Amino acid sequence: VQQSLSAIEQIDGELKSFLLVDPEAALQTADRIDNGQASERALLRGVPYALKDNIVTKGVRTTAASRILENYIPPYSATSAQKLEAAGGVMVGKTNMDEFAMGSSTETSAFQKTANPYGKEYVPGGSSGGSAAAVAAGLVPFALGSDTGGSIRQPAAFCGCFGLKPTYGRVSRYGLIAFASSLDQIGPFTRTAEDAAIVLNAICGHDPMDSTSARGQGEIDFTEGIDAGVKGMRIGIVRNLPEEGLDPAIKAAVEEAIRTLEQAGAQVVEVELPHMEYAVATYYLIAPAEASSNLARFDGVRYGRRAEASGVIDMFERSRSEGFGMEVKRRIIIGTYALSSGYYDAYYKRAQQMRTLIRQDYDRAFAHCDVILMPTTPTTAFKFGEKADNPLQMYLNDIYTIPANLAGLPGASVPCGFAGGLPIGLQILAKPFDEKSILRVAHAYE
Ligand code: GLN
Repeated sequence: VQQSLSAIEQIDGELKSFLLVDPEAALQTADRIDNGQASERALLRGVPYALKDNIVTKGVRTTAASRILENYIPPYSATSAQKLEAAGGVMVGKTNMDEFAMGSSTETSAFQKTANPYGKEYVPGGSSGGSAAAVAAGLVPFALGSDTGGSIRQPAAFCGCFGLKPTYGRVSRYGLIAFASSLDQIGPFTRTAEDAAIVLNAICGHDPMDSTSARGQGEIDFTEGIDAGVKGMRIGIVRNLPEEGLDPAIKAAVEEAIRTLEQAGAQVVEVELPHMEYAVATYYLIAPAEASSNLARFDGVRYGRRAEASGVIDMFERSRSEGFGMEVKRRIIIGTYALSSGYYDAYYKRAQQMRTLIRQDYDRAFAHCDVILMPTTPTTAFKFGEKADNPLQMYLNDIYTIPANLAGLPGASVPCGFAGGLPIGLQILAKPFDEKSILRVAHAYE
């Protein structure tokens, strides 16, 4: 914990991956653990970690990087945070992110810009950019993030660390500030697949406080079988993968990774995902629709910021106008439009129908393979400001990560080389609740 705190002190002034660091609280927790609060065998005994700032922490300011929650002190902790604590981990701080997790560069944070550890003019990705940068820079051995359309996998790829989005329902969302509830999932950033397996052991499981958390998955040890190798595994590669905007260096690196796994004994099969090209459009209806509903609770009455006003309606309007940033407003407006009567059937309903077709594509593909490999992102990290004024460009960066959220699948990004000095991510997807196959392939590849 001391090492982590001094690394943060030395490096984070420039990196800016943390929104809040509380050295005193962390050292006190570490002391309590030393004095017997956690058992000798507690899974994460004394391990420092960071949480994305949309995971609520009792008594510790949690902002989702939004002005509207600037002074919000939650009265409870998220289940995932409670579980890490129970496992003997020591939280050192809360990490920067895109406001309400809406973005792919962490630039929409109301508070600060986080640098990519591989070059300070480059974004760390997003929305969990702070967590990715903190782990990649060695400030903490692991951090949690959330992934609604790629927000764990994409920043992991941009920063060159391991990032895992578990199956929808694997990790409780209780206490995760909701963006799009049918897509959101919490998961770990780590340096290796094995570390991610250990963290997942600590945070997974049914939670009575989250009705969408999965039941009947039993006691699983995600580290078990992780070093079994890939011999005999079937690796799916996608025929006619949409390649518009795909950097040839990334394409080559992923092909090289596939050859490496083939040489290690995996069998490569071709699969088809015919509806993949519609995933971005589908996501950008469903996610804003759910967001517009979820963000209705920030009204100046119940949480955080309240604007000076002359009446109650005026107070709602001013609190929301001042409290939300541009991107969040854009999503609320798109979502409200898509859900309004007269447009509902044309947009939201059709998006839900397309979502079903996308899920069925994966069901069919996984009848022929254990994992599917593809790039995590079409490009390596881009520069600050490069896409900030062009939302469509920004949205298209998510083309390879979004389908897994629509289908509820687990997915990870594992470092797979560099292009122009910037890290490349290899994405590994598997059937629902088969994180083990992902971890096994990633571990063999590392
Ligand atoms: N970049 C995507 C978005 O802006 C995904 C964000 C996320 O996964 N939270 O919605």
